[in-house]
Amino acid sequence: MRSSYRHTKVIFTIGPATDDEETLEKLVRAGVDICRFNMAHATHDYVRDTVARLRKVCEKVERHVSVMVDIKGPEIRTGVVPYALDLEPGNKVDFYVNPDDAKDLEQDGAYAITVNYPGLAKDVVVGNTVLVDSGLIRMKILSKDEKRVRCEVLTPGPLGNRRHINLPGVKVNLPCLTEKDKNDIKLSIECNVEFFALSFAREADDLRVMRRFIAEHDSQAHIIAKIEDQSAVSNLDAIVDASDGLMVARGDLGIEIPYEDLPVVQRRAVQTCHRQGKPVIIATHMLESMISSPMPTRAEITDVANAVYEQADCVMLSGETTIGKYPVECVEVLNRIIRKTELGQGPLYNENVRLITPKAKMLRSAVVLASDMAGAPIVVFTRRGQMAQILSSLRPRNSPVYAFTSDNLVFKQMLPLWGIEPFLLEFDDDPEETVQKAFKALLKYSWVRRGDNMVVITNSKIRDRFVDTIQIRVVE
Ligand code: PGA
Ligand code: MN
Repeated sequence: MRSSYRHTKVIFTIGPATDDEETLEKLVRAGVDICRFNMAHATHDYVRDTVARLRKVCEKVERHVSVMVDIKGPEIRTGVVPYALDLEPGNKVDFYVNPDDAKDLEQDGAYAITVNYPGLAKDVVVGNTVLVDSGLIRMKILSKDEKRVRCEVLTPGPLGNRRHINLPGVKVNLPCLTEKDKNDIKLSIECNVEFFALSFAREADDLRVMRRFIAEHDSQAHIIAKIEDQSAVSNLDAIVDASDGLMVARGDLGIEIPYEDLPVVQRRAVQTCHRQGKPVIIATHMLESMISSPMPTRAEITDVANAVYEQADCVMLSGETTIGKYPVECVEVLNRIIRKTELGQGPLYNENVRLITPKAKMLRSAVVLASDMAGAPIVVFTRRGQMAQILSSLRPRNSPVYAFTSDNLVFKQMLPLWGIEPFLLEFDDDPEETVQKAFKALLKYSWVRRGDNMVVITNSKIRDRFVDTIQIRVVE
């Protein structure tokens, strides 16, 4: 199925609002590119069943979506409470590291809440702030001993089950992969997922640990580093270098760093990825108001447009599609804003990307040529996806890039790349046969018309050798 072309890709997070077959079909037809599972909430049975359902829908619609499993990493969470507590300013809350010490909900004149982090008391400082549930409930630390941390509620709010705790500026002493994470990864590998996102990636080593673990389990899934705290911001360059892409996780990042720093960090993260030729995702609160409203706010429209102007690879939906009332409308809203914004002015291509090999430099020539030919499409053949990634990082603003590969995993891993429309095709021994097959596929799905000019990057056989070439071809 051909959906009308856009450079910027769309990620949606799956949940109760979107996991039925009918809604999934609508989302795939609306043009989502990646489906994210959030392992803070999804169970293993849920992932198994829902991935199978998604793939079935994709087969039916003839449009493919890749799967990203979001691994929670070193997140601190509260435990289970019998009912949501209405916390009021002045209430006392004790956070216990051992569930055995928190037998009653109310004891010692405070609510007794468990946390999943044994090192909590050691790491925090009396007088500092604790933020619960995405910063909603603010508390001040009154005292601590080895069993518990006593806090006073400053801003009110309901405390439900397994709420996320942020400790701004504290280097949390949790391993980058917990036992739960390792089990979640193994399950995801069983389901053949194409991407992992690692929450709270704090340094490049976290990515290396994760990559080693998935390689030991025979997976070549790509790893997206989620930057969510101050250490990630300090180690940005090395984290991008060690990962296959970056997610600017603005939900937690906006709590862990001063909020006025957020746009500055977002821009820096996008530019770092552009320079290193890695994809970058802008996440969280893109259309937050659409969880309950059919229309976005003016500020949200402008925020999405800003991500497009910055030339991020993907924008992401979270609560909008997990629990929201208007998940399909959200994707349509993104489509409209992205298409309109992409028509605006900007450089013809990205001159700042670091190109090292002669072949990479040849791709830049192809981009310049296609741009000179009134934005002719670029056709590329790639076995490992590298050529497509370089072409994407060159950001050819007027030319679509049709990237053919014979490898199913590579095909799916090209989906988030800016401007890349991937195709799966069996390669022939004779490169010209492969080119002809590609043209046929493009014609069949109306990506091109007879008589169109194209810039084709392919091997050519000259005498008994294969030579890299850029060709100007007309679709016949
Ligand atoms: P989360 O990550 O939705 O898994 O918390 C994204 C964010 O923090 O922005
Ligand atoms: Mn987060």
